[in-house]
Amino acid sequence: MAPDGQTLAPNVYDAEPIPPAAREAIEALLTSGDLFRYTAAEGAPVALLEAEFAELMGARYALAVASCSAALFLSLKALDLPRGARVLIPAFTFAAVPSAVVHADCEPVLVEVGDNYRVDMADFEAKLDGAHAVIISHMRGHTSDMDAIMELCDARDIPVIEDAAHSLGTTWHGRKIGTIGKIGCFSFQSYKLVNAGEGGMLITDDPELAARCVIMSGAYETNWKKHPGMQNSYMLWQNKLPLYNMRMQNLSAAVIRPQLPEVANRVAKGRAGHDRVADRLNESPWLAVPAALPPEDRAPDSIQFNLTGEWTDAEALRFQTEAKKRGIGVQVFGLSEGNARAFWNWEFLGPQPDLPRTRAMLMRACDVRLPTRLTEAELDYIANAVTSAAEAVKAA
Ligand SMILES: *Cc1c(COP(=O)(O)O)cnc(C)c1O
Repeated sequence: MAPDGQTLAPNVYDAEPIPPAAREAIEALLTSGDLFRYTAAEGAPVALLEAEFAELMGARYALAVASCSAALFLSLKALDLPRGARVLIPAFTFAAVPSAVVHADCEPVLVEVGDNYRVDMADFEAKLDGAHAVIISHMRGHTSDMDAIMELCDARDIPVIEDAAHSLGTTWHGRKIGTIGKIGCFSFQSYKLVNAGEGGMLITDDPELAARCVIMSGAYETNWKKHPGMQNSYMLWQNKLPLYNMRMQNLSAAVIRPQLPEVANRVAKGRAGHDRVADRLNESPWLAVPAALPPEDRAPDSIQFNLTGEWTDAEALRFQTEAKKRGIGVQVFGLSEGNARAFWNWEFLGPQPDLPRTRAMLMRACDVRLPTRLTEAELDYIANAVTSAAEAVKAA
């Protein structure tokens, strides 16, 4: 290892800086103290953000909430599913997703995920009959076969919620991810493409679902009047639904709004950076980056790859250590203690059937953050560190 390796290694954990344009809006909010989204009669930053996000996505309705998890929970509640309803989710997702299902008094049914990180369609189809709803997590931005999923679900009239927390800017046949299912949910937590620390958004074209989500998010009394375009629907739902108070506050919106015009640029940079590193990793005989399905144009801010061929757990752990020595944190999902993306750690679900395909994938799938701000030299540093770590273990 180069003696200066540590100092050259890029810091991949820092988030993107917030654009300076946010400062003026934040200063005005601090001066006025007007942080609650429903205080102002109009023009509240949260309301402006909703209009801008709906426009960006080409969706009829957008609702800003406290997190993507809140958006998923409200989506399930808005579907008015019976208590204990079976909700299919991929077994490779973040623990917040089965948690949202449990929170909504539904029962998550875990579906196998293949070694390309996408939903195993045979297992999906086998588990679909009897399901009341489906959440598709585009985990780490990887898009499952949405054509097949929508065809199977539409034929059975099963609603699909897209967990697009990490997929802002991804397209499928040119269509924006998050607009294919009935509801799309997004995250503005710091490790996503748009960083507000915390925050979420849900989009839909369905006025009844939108109205129900708005009310349950905490639009009490006549605050629904501050959401344009679905006034008739509110008459049905006001005071008929519980208020879960999962609203976004104005400071978050002020941080998010100036980042929206940067999304396209971040997506382009993220894709170029990902593909640059992927090409290098694919040259290694011990590493492989699964290809996207043909209709997908990715928007990555991290890279996932598999250890290929025969690797023992001990070798995989040594690979992590060798990468760390080179200054790069590589996480093998299934080998890092208590990983929130490994389904066997979701003990709150109680005993679950094993999912051998997903388990095998998680034991050899690696995760490295690639924030879109990295330079080509920094990306090359990471690619070299990862390939040489594999070489150090396997060529020994
Ligand atoms: C981050 C993430 C979530 C949770 O988002 P929060 O805004 O933190 O609630 C859910 N699903 C996926 C796939 C994620 O990456």
